[in-house]
Amino acid sequence: MFELTKEQEMLRAMVREFADTELAPKALELDRKGDFPFEIAKKMAALGMLGISTSKELGGSGMGHLAGTIAIEELARVYPSVAFFMEVSTGPLYAITNFGSVEQKKKYAPLILKGEKIMCFAATEPSGGSELANLGTEAVPTGEGYIINGRKVYITGGGIADYCVLLAKTGDRASIFLIEQGTPGFTVGRRQEQIGLKSVDVSELAFNDCKIPKENIIGKEGAGFPIAMTTFTVARPAIGAIGLGIARGAFEIALKYAKERILYGKPIARLQAIQLLLADMDTEIDAARWLVYAPGAALDKGATPRDIVKQSSRAKTVGAEVGFSVTRKAIEILGGNGVSPEYHLGRLLNDAVELIPATGTQQIMKIIQAGEILK
Ligand SMILES: Cc1cc2nc3c(=O)[nH]c(=O)nc-3n(C[C@H](O)[C@H](O)[C@H](O)COP(=O)(O)OP(=O)(O)OC[C@H]3O[C@@H](n4cnc5c(N)ncnc54)[C@H](O)[C@@H]3O)c2cc1C
Repeated sequence: MFELTKEQEMLRAMVREFADTELAPKALELDRKGDFPFEIAKKMAALGMLGISTSKELGGSGMGHLAGTIAIEELARVYPSVAFFMEVSTGPLYAITNFGSVEQKKKYAPLILKGEKIMCFAATEPSGGSELANLGTEAVPTGEGYIINGRKVYITGGGIADYCVLLAKTGDRASIFLIEQGTPGFTVGRRQEQIGLKSVDVSELAFNDCKIPKENIIGKEGAGFPIAMTTFTVARPAIGAIGLGIARGAFEIALKYAKERILYGKPIARLQAIQLLLADMDTEIDAARWLVYAPGAALDKGATPRDIVKQSSRAKTVGAEVGFSVTRKAIEILGGNGVSPEYHLGRLLNDAVELIPATGTQQIMKIIQAGEILK
């Protein structure tokens, strides 16, 4: 097993308690209503959950990437939407804290970490998320700044974010910009309804002659793709962690049920067919845990994002698969109750499905992994 430090174990226990007391009693209602739980996000920020992997100098707790992965896993075990929010708010912040100017770091990091403001990351376009090199959104330099035109889709938090970290074409290359909500020409389009992650806002964004000052560029002009790829590499294991958390949540529900449900005068856990399912689920979860924890652990030991490209894409694929596979088996164990909302498995399955395209499809992850293997 992965040897966790005492600090990481304490963090896990704290987040688990938060999830069991704050999220579990509300999960069904939150999922039905589908609103973003601002109050819960504020409580998470107050407990320092939004800055686990951000350095202490920037206002985070500096506990490292593996600690962040563990916290996300624990939240997803109970209510994956909230884990997804945590991943998505820290993802674009990583672009700023690692590539932004000193002023940008000082200005934006505390606001995000304290939960006072929300940030989204806008890369995907209607023409296809997998082909990011073919960007339609363009930022044209004006001397004083840039004029932006284009459209983005499937942007997590797009409808509720105060700041948008945007990938846009600049000449032959791309650049990353920060655009504040309310900037003339920047509008939020429709919320894109999802089958799962019901509390996560996923929206379209539009930019029509949106003028921004040149200070709003993050990093150098033309460095957009390397910044975006590095940000994705660091963010993808969190998607794997959400899948792992979903699998654990579903496994716990199925195990409890199998011990309590009586058929033929004994608990169904005594039926060998059920035991085989439980054994497979247990194996899948522990195998996935190794792969999901590996990239964060490597970063904490000094690896660069470039060093973990293979581990990161693999963690995302495996986590998304295990979330789906284990939850499906849990549904089988519960029979008819498996698809009843009160047993939570239907929503967990729908949440797991959402992970399949998020931060890049399973096929794109495997293409990246193969590229690293064949290097
Ligand atoms: C819940 C959720 C949240 C999201 N949040 C964000 C966000 O915050 N910001 C953001 O920018 N985007 C976000 N996305 C978008 C996501 O990144 C894209 O959906 C994803 O990159 C895939 O792009 P696409 O949907 O356009 O599919 P396409 O690119 O059209 O892909 C369609 C199919 O073609 C396959 N394919 C594509 N290229 C290849 C290839 N070279 N070889 C083999 N197969 C290939 C894909 O694997 C897929 O099966 C989110 C998506 C979801 C579901």
